[in-house]
Amino acid sequence: MAALAHSIPSEQDAERRSEARYPTQDPAELELLNGPADPIYGTVLDVSRSGLRVALAQRIDRGEQVKVKLHDNVIFGEVRYCRAVSGAFQAGIKIQDLVRPSIRDSQHIADDPLSLYAVGKGLSVPEVIDVREHLVRCDACRHRLAAKEAMLNPYTQGKRRRSLGPQPRA
Ligand SMILES: [Zn+2]
Repeated sequence: MAALAHSIPSEQDAERRSEARYPTQDPAELELLNGPADPIYGTVLDVSRSGLRVALAQRIDRGEQVKVKLHDNVIFGEVRYCRAVSGAFQAGIKIQDLVRPSIRDSQHIADDPLSLYAVGKGLSVPEVIDVREHLVRCDACRHRLAAKEAMLNPYTQGKRRRSLGPQPRA
């Protein structure tokens, strides 16, 4: 049954990787744009391509516009859901905008963050978002990431190579 996964080509592997949730433990400060000014403190549990999952002590309403402060970065987003989970709450926030303290667009991804991205832990939320945005635009870094993943995770790479068969990637 699970053998089906082996036939997925590598383009879709890249797609799934960017959709995948990257686990974090970043402290965050939320502010409801149309609500009371009191900050709500929470922890970002993971980042997906389009959103954040945040653990909170209180419920926030679906549809609320929120400002999420993370380190020096600010994310603006919309609450997609909020559910009770073991005495606390988890909210899904769709990312609409990210405000960074500086522009890093012209730089390639440094080796360390790229390794941490390949491993799937150790990056902060803004770092994950930066890496993903860069990977979308940069072939060179996508290839570096593929090489790192081959090194870090020979098992996955073995599967991928088998599934690729005779067609090498340019
Ligand atoms: Zn690059």
